[in-house]
Amino acid sequence: ASVVITAVRDHSGRHIGFAKVTRDLTERRRISVLEEEGRRVTTFLAMLGHELRNPLAPIVSALTIMEMESIESATLRMTRDVIARQVDQMRRLIDDLLDVGRITSGKLRLDLVPLDLREATLEAIEASEPLIRSRSHTLDVDIECPELWVRGDRTRVAQIIGNLLTNAAKYTPPGGRIAVRLDEAGLNAELSVSDNGIGIPPKLLPQVFDLFVQGEQDVARSQGGLGLGLSLVQQLVALHGGDIAAYSSGHPGKGSEFIVRLPRTQPPAETGAAAQKPP
Ligand code: ADP
Repeated sequence: ASVVITAVRDHSGRHIGFAKVTRDLTERRRISVLEEEGRRVTTFLAMLGHELRNPLAPIVSALTIMEMESIESATLRMTRDVIARQVDQMRRLIDDLLDVGRITSGKLRLDLVPLDLREATLEAIEASEPLIRSRSHTLDVDIECPELWVRGDRTRVAQIIGNLLTNAAKYTPPGGRIAVRLDEAGLNAELSVSDNGIGIPPKLLPQVFDLFVQGEQDVARSQGGLGLGLSLVQQLVALHGGDIAAYSSGHPGKGSEFIVRLPRTQPPAETGAAAQKPP
């Protein structure tokens, strides 16, 4: 609360004393935070509606084409691809929404096993390659370590790396450069995903991992998404005992870099260094 002393005057303007006015700022601040949250939820729900409805139009047109009698097999294949792509996008969105719910309610269970991060990274790169290629990006991979073990949930680690690669591909104009680097850094494994894309404005950078936070609306809208990805990535990394940081000069073309650190672990007994120990 703040206290303000103000002069009190009578109706003719003559000074007749002072009054102490106490303002409850905490209450006002609380209301403005709630208003801000309310606005975010309203925007989010509107965008969720669009994101779920948008894929329906191409699906319906594809189905209409498929009902034609004289449809050629090439056209049929193309229309099936359209449906598959749109359904996949919807599935990913719904999965992300369910994950947010699970994480927030503490119900997400990780199946932690010793995992070679090198292998997991190469698999995630392979899965993201169609998107990277479709946007004509070049991909540099710098992984010198032969193997790098962490305790991780196979699916979730793939989700972390896949999300960062997808964002790098989405937020870099076609023909850009994406780089993946993996190495050990002391007790940690360090994975960097960088790009030479649109960069992250300094104002957005501190909030980039917050739920529902998105950059410039027209860019974010044209790329789809709801501002769930990085928030999920950060929470999944934390559940693995690691951390993630974002770097960007904020200048378009100078790009962004995301660095994930996960605690290293011993290789499982039957492989790697342990297997070479004398009995
Ligand atoms: P979404 O991509 O669905 O908007 P994310 O949580 O994955 O949600 O990302 C939040 C915001 O962070 C994006 O809207 C975008 O503005 C910004 N962002 C994320 N990755 C990058 C990147 N590699 N380059 C530039 N901006 C990025």
